[in-house]
Amino acid sequence: MYYFKFFISMRIRVSILCSQLRYHSSLATNPLKPITNTELETLVLQQKRQGKFYNLTENVISKPTVLLASCRNLSNNVSINEDSVSKRISIEEISDQLKQNRFNVEECCVKMVPNRLKGESLVLPNLKLKVLIEAIRMVLVIVYDKGFATFAYGGRVGMGRHTAIRYLKTTVQDPTWWFKVGFEHSVFDDKHVSRLSLIVEEKIDDKFLIELIKKFFEFEALRIELGGCCMGRGFPQESSLNSMLVNIYFNGFDKEMQRLRLKIDREEKKVSVDSVGGRVFHKPERVYVVRYLDEILVITSSCSKRHTLELKNEVVKFLEGVLGMEVDKLKTAIHSSVSEKIDFLGMELQAVPPSVLHPRPSEKEIRARKKYNRQKEMKLLELKNARATRRRKLGLKIVEHVFKKVKRGDVFKFDYQIEGEVRDIFRRWGDETVQEFFDSLEDRSEWYRKFTSAEFLNLRHIRSQLPCELVDAYDQFQEQVNKHLTPLKARNALEEVGMRVEEEEKENYAESIVDDLTKLCMKVIAPPELVRKAVKLAGFTNSMGRPRPIKLLICLEDTDIIKWYAGVGRRWLEYFCCCRNFKLVKIIVSYHMRFSCILTLAEKHDSTKLEAIRHYTKDLKIFDMAGGEEVYFPTEREIKMMGDKNLVDPKPVDGALTMAVVRLAVDEPKSYCLAHFCDKKETALYRIRLLQNRINVDPLNMEKWVPGMGAIHESLNRKVLSLCCDHISDLYLGNITLQDIDCTSFVDV
Ligand SMILES: [Zn+2]
Repeated sequence: MYYFKFFISMRIRVSILCSQLRYHSSLATNPLKPITNTELETLVLQQKRQGKFYNLTENVISKPTVLLASCRNLSNNVSINEDSVSKRISIEEISDQLKQNRFNVEECCVKMVPNRLKGESLVLPNLKLKVLIEAIRMVLVIVYDKGFATFAYGGRVGMGRHTAIRYLKTTVQDPTWWFKVGFEHSVFDDKHVSRLSLIVEEKIDDKFLIELIKKFFEFEALRIELGGCCMGRGFPQESSLNSMLVNIYFNGFDKEMQRLRLKIDREEKKVSVDSVGGRVFHKPERVYVVRYLDEILVITSSCSKRHTLELKNEVVKFLEGVLGMEVDKLKTAIHSSVSEKIDFLGMELQAVPPSVLHPRPSEKEIRARKKYNRQKEMKLLELKNARATRRRKLGLKIVEHVFKKVKRGDVFKFDYQIEGEVRDIFRRWGDETVQEFFDSLEDRSEWYRKFTSAEFLNLRHIRSQLPCELVDAYDQFQEQVNKHLTPLKARNALEEVGMRVEEEEKENYAESIVDDLTKLCMKVIAPPELVRKAVKLAGFTNSMGRPRPIKLLICLEDTDIIKWYAGVGRRWLEYFCCCRNFKLVKIIVSYHMRFSCILTLAEKHDSTKLEAIRHYTKDLKIFDMAGGEEVYFPTEREIKMMGDKNLVDPKPVDGALTMAVVRLAVDEPKSYCLAHFCDKKETALYRIRLLQNRINVDPLNMEKWVPGMGAIHESLNRKVLSLCCDHISDLYLGNITLQDIDCTSFVDV
C-alpha cells in the first residue's frame, strides 16, 4: 500500500515537472534566435540532392532565423534579438515576400544624388535589401566555399591579403617571369550577369534565387567594378555579396589554372625521367597563381620566356573567351621578376637573392659580436673569482673558530644538529671546485707540470739505488697523473671543436654564396612613392615634406581629431606590417602624422606647437571629465614594437584617409543611430566630407590621385548621418566603415 502511494505521488510529481519543463522550453524557443553557422550548414545541405541544391530561397533564405542571423552579421552584434531588429525592418514581412516570390527589389534601391550638378549618382540598397543580400551570401558560402581553389583569396574566412602575401613569401620559389592580368575598367554588365547565372545554375536549381540576383544587378543594388580599385575596401558602393559572386565567377578560371599547372607538372616529370643524373642545378618548371578577387598574378619558375608567353596567351584566351572579360593587353605584360618590380595588392614585389632578405653579418658586426662575447666571459670570470674569494674567507673563519675551540678543549654544544647541512655545503663547494679545476685547461696543465717535474726518478741509476716500493709507487702515481691530468687530450678536443666551428662557418658561407647565385626569394615592400604621394595628398605634409596641420579637421573636437589620425595611422600600420620596408610606414605614422596632428590641435587652439605638446604629450593623450586619460594614437613605443604577426585581411587606408566626418551644430529631432540595428538614441549629426571633392581631384586621374588608391563614391559627399557616440568613434578609428552604416537613411538638413 505504502509503495503504491509512493508510486502515485512520484508519477504526479514527474508529470508536474514535465509540464513545467515544457512550459519553460516553450518560453525559451519563443523569442526568435539567429540560426548558428552549423545549423545553417545542415539546413543548406538538406536541400542537396544528387550534387545540386534545390529551393534555397523557399527553404533556407526566407527562414526568419536565417534572416535574423543575417542581421547579426550586419550589425556585428552577437546578442542581437528580434526586438532591436523589428524597430527597423519586419523579418516576417521579408520572409513572407520571399516565400510568395513578391520581394520588390526596385523598391529597396535608393538613389544617392550627388551635390554637384554634373556628378554621378549611385544606387545603394536599403537596410531591408542589405539583410536579404547578406542572407544570400551566407547560403552561397556554404554551397561554394569548400570548392574554391587554394589560391583564391578575398572575401573568404582566413584567406585575406596577408595570407596571400605569406604564401608568396614562403611557398613561391625562384620566380623567373611573372605577369599580372589587368582588366579594362568596366562594370559587370548583362552578359556577365547572364554568364554568372549559368554558372550558379550548374549547382543551384532555384529560379527565384537566380531571378533575385539578376534583379540586384538590374537595379544596381549590386555593382561590381572590374579593373578598378574598389573591391574589398569597405566602400559603401560594394556589398558583402560582391566578393562571393566574383569568386564564383572566377572559379572556372581557377580550375583552368589548376589544369594548366598540372599539365606543366606532368611534362616536367617526363623530362626529368629522361635526363636522370644530368645537370646539377636542374630545377623543375613551375607555375604559381594568386588571385585576390579580380587581381590575378601568375608567376613562373625556371620557365623560358617563350613558355611564359604561351601560358599568358592561354590565360588571356580563357578570360576573354570563356569568361567574357576585357583584358587590358598593355597592362598584362610579362616582366622579369628580378629586374622589374610588380605591384600586387597595393604592395611591390620583386625577386631577390636570399642574402638580400637575410644579409650575412658584416665584418664590423662580427667584430662587435666577438667583443660582446669576450666581455660576457670576463664578467663571468669576475663573478666566479668573487665567489671563490668569499668562500675562502668564510671557510677560513670557520676553520679558525673550530680550531680555537678544540685547542681550548671546549665541547661543542648545539641546540640543534646542523652537522649534516654543513657537511653538505662543504661537499658541494668542494665538488664544484674540483669540477672547475678539471674544466680549466690552465689549472690542469700547471698541476701536471708540477707532478711530473721529478724527472730524476726516471733515471736508471737513481732508481736502482732507491727502495723498490718507492719507485713502484712513483711509477703508479705518474701513471694516474698521466691518465687524469694530461692536458694534451683536452687541448686536442678543444682544438677540434674550434676547427669544426670554423669549418661550419666556411660551409655556410659557401652555401649562402651558391644560394645567392641559384635561388630567388620574394621581397615585399610598401611602395614608397605611392605612400609619400598619399601623405602629401591628404595634407599631412607640405611640399617640403614637413608635417603641417589639416585645416578641415580644425572644426572637429580634440578627441575626434586624434581619433581620425589614429584611424588612418593604425590602418596603414596594419596593412603594411608584412612589408620589408615597414620602417618607412612606421616613421610616417610616428613622425609625420603625429606632428601633423599636434599642429592641427595647436592651430585649433591658437597655440604654439610646444604648448600643444605640453598639453597633449607626444602620445596625444586625452583627459576626460573624470580625469582619466585615453590614448588612441599608437605610441612611439607601440609602433616600434609592431611587426609581422597577424594574418587578418586588413582594410586599406583608402576609406579612412579620404573621408572626414564633421559634427553639425544643429539640434535635430532625435533619431536612431544609422549603424546597422544600433539601439542607441543619443545621437548627433555628422556630415561626410570627401577628400577628392575637397581638393577637387578626380580619383580616376592617375596623374594627380594616388594610383591604386580607391575612393568613396562622390554621391556620399556632404551627406549627413545620424550616429551614436560609439559608432562615430568606431568610424573615426577605422573599426567600421560606411559599409556598416545604412547610408540610404541619411538625414536631410
Ligand atoms: Zn550606434
